[in-house]
Amino acid sequence: IQEQYIRMNPRSRETQPSYQARFPSGSPGHDGYTSDPFPVVIARGSGPRKWDIDGNEYVDYGMGSASLLLGHAHPEVVAALSGVLADGSHFGAPTESMLEWGERICTLMPCVDKVRFVGSGAEATMLAMRVARAHTGKEKIIRWESHYHGWHDYVMPGNLPPFDVPASIGIPQGTIDSIIVLPTDLAALENALNSDENIAGVITEASGASYGTVPLPDGFLDGVRRLTREHGVVMILDEVITGFRWAPGGAQERLGVDPDLCTMAKIITGGLPGGAVGGRDEVMAVMHQTGDSHHDRYERVLHGGTFNANPYAAASGNAALRLVATGEYNAQADLMAERLRAGLREVVDRREVNATVYGESSTFHLFFGASSIDGMDASRLKNQPAQIQRSLRQALQVRGVDLMSRTSGVLSGTHTEVDIDFTIEAFDGAIAAMMEE
Ligand code: PMP
Repeated sequence: IQEQYIRMNPRSRETQPSYQARFPSGSPGHDGYTSDPFPVVIARGSGPRKWDIDGNEYVDYGMGSASLLLGHAHPEVVAALSGVLADGSHFGAPTESMLEWGERICTLMPCVDKVRFVGSGAEATMLAMRVARAHTGKEKIIRWESHYHGWHDYVMPGNLPPFDVPASIGIPQGTIDSIIVLPTDLAALENALNSDENIAGVITEASGASYGTVPLPDGFLDGVRRLTREHGVVMILDEVITGFRWAPGGAQERLGVDPDLCTMAKIITGGLPGGAVGGRDEVMAVMHQTGDSHHDRYERVLHGGTFNANPYAAASGNAALRLVATGEYNAQADLMAERLRAGLREVVDRREVNATVYGESSTFHLFFGASSIDGMDASRLKNQPAQIQRSLRQALQVRGVDLMSRTSGVLSGTHTEVDIDFTIEAFDGAIAAMMEE
């Protein structure tokens, strides 16, 4: 598999030393899953497809880290952006497009009375945690093992197994001590809320860890809502992935959850940089600036950011949310994901692979080593054999399919039956090749 991969990607291979020379571990933007011994370098995308610099075409299940529910370079998003490009990129002042954007978000997302724009999903979770602390006057945040909320200091404890050490070095002990990492277990939550007076909020991925790689137990979000309400603790629903994807109104609409705050990014900008925090008036009230003498008494949450509510992101976001509001893209993505999961399952069964296929809404996950994930916790589900994961990603890449991580993917509303059936056939071939090796 690797030999074929190297053969198919001569230009990506050739440029690799230049990346290594300029970027830590050769990676310009972030750590992440790449193929060995080098990643493919991408040239462009359109709809559900993308092309690398060697001309290989892929059906894409990364979809801009799940930000592209409308597919790559959607014509209406491109037109909206083209329409404003020459008007200037920053004024440090309100624009009409920002108002339209905010109104669309408040209309779509049930819990959002007020919204504040930020620069990314990580900034959204960081701000939401501060708002929760300010609203309650308490300090600690409870989070679940393995849930992903970005890369900032407060969400490194508990991010990856083993959960008793932060997923990154460089995190101050005081920050670590302010975060309580728990398994997704309501008894553990109740115990923590009863035994610690200093808890401001609970943050949770709406889907379960990593867009549903580790699903939540039945009734879990309702239980979190009930317990947080009983204890006067802020419930933060991280909808960076699920917002505008699980439904036009996110997981809160699809699952009927009623959080105090939610965090949003990705689809909200139509795939440009940006994000937002939204929530109930009474919680967002700590962001209200009263009077003009805020320097002598700090009675509010201070928040800034040069590129918050950027006009280009607003134009792109408005175009995207206008289409999201129709519900058509969500419905198509969900339908195609169901078809894909069924097809992958059929291959697994026919070839008698000890694996299972699962996923909610427009996502899919593969787990190798068991025929069901029932009863498995985060440390098990996040610890598949690395060799299998690497081989699968690469065996699919050489067959024209790319995943979001090594064993998971997300769809867009532009994936069609042709793409799905192509993918199932590629998966069949990939499994056959892996069995041979
Ligand atoms: N929360 C969740 C649930 C996410 O999936 C992500 C990113 N994948 C983030 C927060 C962080 O968003 P960003 O990468 O825009 O900082």
